[in-house]
Amino acid sequence: MNAPFHAPAPDPAQDGAAKPPLEVLIAAPRGFCAGVDRAIEIVEKAIDRYGAPVYVRHEIVHNKFVVDGLKAKGAVFVEELDEVPVDAPVVFSAHGVPKSVPAEATRRNMIWLDATCPLVSKVHRQAERQVKDGRHIIFIGHRGHPEVIGTFGQVPAGQMTLVETEADVAALALPADQPLSFLTQTTLSVDDTARVVEALRAKYPDIMGPRGEDICYATSNRQNSVKAIAPACDLVLVIGAPNSSNSVRLVEVSERCGTPARLIQRAHEIDPAWLDGVGTIGVTAGASAPELLVREVVEQLATWRHVVEQQVETAHETMIFKLPRQLTV
Ligand code: SF4
Repeated sequence: MNAPFHAPAPDPAQDGAAKPPLEVLIAAPRGFCAGVDRAIEIVEKAIDRYGAPVYVRHEIVHNKFVVDGLKAKGAVFVEELDEVPVDAPVVFSAHGVPKSVPAEATRRNMIWLDATCPLVSKVHRQAERQVKDGRHIIFIGHRGHPEVIGTFGQVPAGQMTLVETEADVAALALPADQPLSFLTQTTLSVDDTARVVEALRAKYPDIMGPRGEDICYATSNRQNSVKAIAPACDLVLVIGAPNSSNSVRLVEVSERCGTPARLIQRAHEIDPAWLDGVGTIGVTAGASAPELLVREVVEQLATWRHVVEQQVETAHETMIFKLPRQLTV
């Protein structure tokens, strides 16, 4: 743990009654990952280069604050390519898209930029390779998530089967002589995924898979940092959107450590009653939530309690991803 930062003790004369103390453990790493940083920079640089509006297919990252900020700068968010005028530039989100989407943009002679996180693209290339080698892929992920839709769209229909749980693995009825491999979504629970992989290996001993799994460094680092603070906390606040897979996983990680957790998007959602009986609170943020929102939460807590803040760092991240060539030449 890093040295604690003690906010100045409140002066009862200035502050009415003295506020009761609240220890705030801030998890690190937290918040923006390299893929989210890159996706946001792609949209901003595209607006600079091509002028507004720049269209973005799907929320660039799952965070309303970020999306609203980009809208104010000239980004227009749509769900499908046919909502984009052919003469306007379009950016594909960090979650990745099926191959058919850039193919259609190229066919329509559109200017398009791919903000797919390179770690998601890596899974896409693995999927192509496995199918080329004649293997059927079992994909561990969450049904309906854009990353899952994008990865399924890298290979012909019928070459990949989705499983979410160990029960799904038990229900699989693939031919015994079918060569198999597995891949995973990047933002899953590390612990749940390990169990699903174990079930797959037990049922199909010859199944091939990545060395670990495809859960990205940012997802596992954020889950580990919650594991480090949650046992010492009475409550953990996770800043993130309800449709942000990695944020929802952080809530689960805390709860599995025996500490209740709340997912919030902004500080104003905190109910002061949540702090009843709470002496130590944890704060973290999903990979698509900016640091500004963490500070907003700490400042909100400081309006009710005398905050003593301490950062608990479990890993140091230095990952940076390159921008697409169109924006660097
Ligand atoms: S959470 Fe992981 S896979 Fe997703 S954008 Fe961030 S680094 Fe990439």
